[in-house]
Amino acid sequence: MTPHEIIGRARRDGRGVLTEAESKELVRSLGIRTTRMLSAASRDEAVAAAREIGYPCVLKVASPDITHKSDAGGVKVGLADETQVAEAYDAIMASCRQKHPEAEIDGVTVQDMAAPGLEVIVGTATDREFGPVVMFGIGGVWVEVLQDVSFKLAPLTPDDARAAIGEIRAAKLLDGFRGSDPVDKAALEDILLKVSEFVAATPEVAEMDLNPIFAYPDGAVAVDARVILGA
Ligand code: ADP
Ligand code: MG
Repeated sequence: MTPHEIIGRARRDGRGVLTEAESKELVRSLGIRTTRMLSAASRDEAVAAAREIGYPCVLKVASPDITHKSDAGGVKVGLADETQVAEAYDAIMASCRQKHPEAEIDGVTVQDMAAPGLEVIVGTATDREFGPVVMFGIGGVWVEVLQDVSFKLAPLTPDDARAAIGEIRAAKLLDGFRGSDPVDKAALEDILLKVSEFVAATPEVAEMDLNPIFAYPDGAVAVDARVILGA
């Protein structure tokens, strides 16, 4: 499906937030790498999907009503075999039903487990005055602590993208830290430019979040995505 079709379907369903699966499909259609994922509506389907995806794998709650999945106990990573997948499915359902009794829950997505990388964020928001802005920052557990992000007006030029990455206080982390290899900044610039071009051309998208992206010495992959539509 094209981004236009994905957005249209959500609108027809009366939803203002795309699911992770929809958001990732949209992101993938922009040429940005994401984790491979399959949908599963039952424990047995999750086990079958895990067999297809391979181990280790990740299970995440699939619900149009639960956007902060870990807060709801809806994310289980590093699942090594069928037993762990089955148990993770039950644990996710139990926790999410308890924390969100009103939520419609479609089951889970089963994803391949991305290798550890440096966690970064690319996000967008719409400024009332300036229109779409694109944000870059360090992700993961440090986001709230460091509040280390840079902003640029969309559409970004390649120079803007390079500057956005270089301007954060923790920019040195990207150049390698205590013996770790530098991450692929060109891959991050490419993601910033693709996201920027998309939001600049798509005013119906109010907000977009790739959080986190795992950055590697060679490439980068979005492991979570969320797209919020405007009024
Ligand atoms: P939330 O809705 O809580 O933001 P995420 O999809 O971001 O849920 O998952 C929470 C965390 O789990 C991520 O920040 C990441 O560290 C880890 N994670 C999620 N999906 C994967 C994956 N496919 N591979 C590896 N780690 C993952
Ligand atoms: Mg996330």
